[in-house]
Amino acid sequence: MEKSYDIAVIGGGAAGSMAAIRAAQLRKKVILLERNNSIGKKILMTGKGRCNITNSADIDVFLEKFGKQGKFFRSAFFAFSNQDLMNFFQSNGLELKIERQGRVFPVTDKATSVVRVISEALSANGVELADNKRVSDIKPGNGSFEIITEGREKIICKKVVLATGGLSYKATGSTGDGLRIAGKFGHKITPASPGLVPLVAKEAWLKELQGLALENIRITFKYGKSKIVSEIGELMFTHFGVSGPLVLDLSGKISILLAEHKDIGLFIDLKPGLEPEQLESKLLHKFQTKGNIHLKNLFKDILPQRLIAVFLNIAGIDPDRKTNQITSDQRRVIINLLKGLPLTITGTLLIEEAMVTGGGVSTEEIDPRTMESRLVPGLYFAGEVIDGAASSGGYNLQQAFSTGYLAGESAANA
Ligand SMILES: Cc1cc2nc3c(=O)[nH]c(=O)nc-3n(C[C@H](O)[C@H](O)[C@H](O)COP(=O)(O)OP(=O)(O)OC[C@H]3O[C@@H](n4cnc5c(N)ncnc54)[C@H](O)[C@@H]3O)c2cc1C
Repeated sequence: MEKSYDIAVIGGGAAGSMAAIRAAQLRKKVILLERNNSIGKKILMTGKGRCNITNSADIDVFLEKFGKQGKFFRSAFFAFSNQDLMNFFQSNGLELKIERQGRVFPVTDKATSVVRVISEALSANGVELADNKRVSDIKPGNGSFEIITEGREKIICKKVVLATGGLSYKATGSTGDGLRIAGKFGHKITPASPGLVPLVAKEAWLKELQGLALENIRITFKYGKSKIVSEIGELMFTHFGVSGPLVLDLSGKISILLAEHKDIGLFIDLKPGLEPEQLESKLLHKFQTKGNIHLKNLFKDILPQRLIAVFLNIAGIDPDRKTNQITSDQRRVIINLLKGLPLTITGTLLIEEAMVTGGGVSTEEIDPRTMESRLVPGLYFAGEVIDGAASSGGYNLQQAFSTGYLAGESAANA
């Protein structure tokens, strides 16, 4: 049986849901097709199950976070800003709180409450939700589109919003169907690369440190004659390499650089608040006042317990040596390592394990003021299916909600 709608939205993630809500608010007959048995599967995983909805930063910061693609998202961020998104949740009964670095979370600390608000808004605005419906193809007709699902159902609509997500965490439903469909329509697809992804390193000693988190450190990546220096923050050792906020935020750049550079040096500054000279005089003082104790015990004041043996092993110094027996050369080795514990980055985990996908439908062929395809009138894009990803902090979900809102509104008003 054929059904007709003004607008069909493909994908019930953050982007598709907001597109459907906005189009329905503008009194259009809207169907939202989702392949899973419920909407928002990925939202449930965000912010470690707490959902970092957005960030309280100025829009300029949002633009910066998307790098080269920032300019493209400008109209969307103005059409539906972080403040608008916060108002949306608050006016629908979900209180929010702002945590460090401007990260916005629901006060419930539960992503389920975010999905509940979205589900309620979909039904309150009269969106027809069709779950368990995987779209396999979209065919252009005469001023309309024919949407074909895996169950061979046909849906006719005047406009389509494609919001099928990227390629990461495939179990949530984002397996790249939208990229394939956009490609069939002649859209250029920027090759996918993992963003917000843990990095793989060569060093065998990492296994001993699995799960250890280091706070208040700085990392520097060195490749060729260039380097990338992080802010001060947190890193976590894994059995295969490194993860944690500092690493994830720079991982998109590193994954691209790895295509040209086989190995990239990563140096962990364990004492970023101290210059080498200050560190040396502190150490000298410690060595002089506690000359009779073993180095491994003195280091309890300097490094987390689990790191001490590994660190002294890398330094090539016997941990049972008395501190007053440490030579000035050994002291220099210690200082160099404290200011730059070296690792060799050889790769990233796979895109499936990345939190976001870099690449996607090229922004060159999408009108940033409407999110409409420049090639296929009536076809709109929203969310992670579009090329461009940001670092962590709520920016990616805001992109999905903002582009979704703009696509839904433009499709309804066209
Ligand atoms: C573990 C993790 C944690 C994250 N944490 C945060 C965070 O705290 N803050 C933040 O800002 N960002 C976070 N992100 C990123 C953020 O989740 C995404 O950027 C955002 O959810 C993308 O939304 P979307 O609607 O574009 O895509 P998706 O959420 O991927 O939604 C796409 C939807 O389309 C459906 N679909 C796909 N193909 C079809 C088809 N053929 N037919 C029908 N339906 C289809 C999928 O089932 C899915 O429901 C996190 C990501 C991950 C993986």
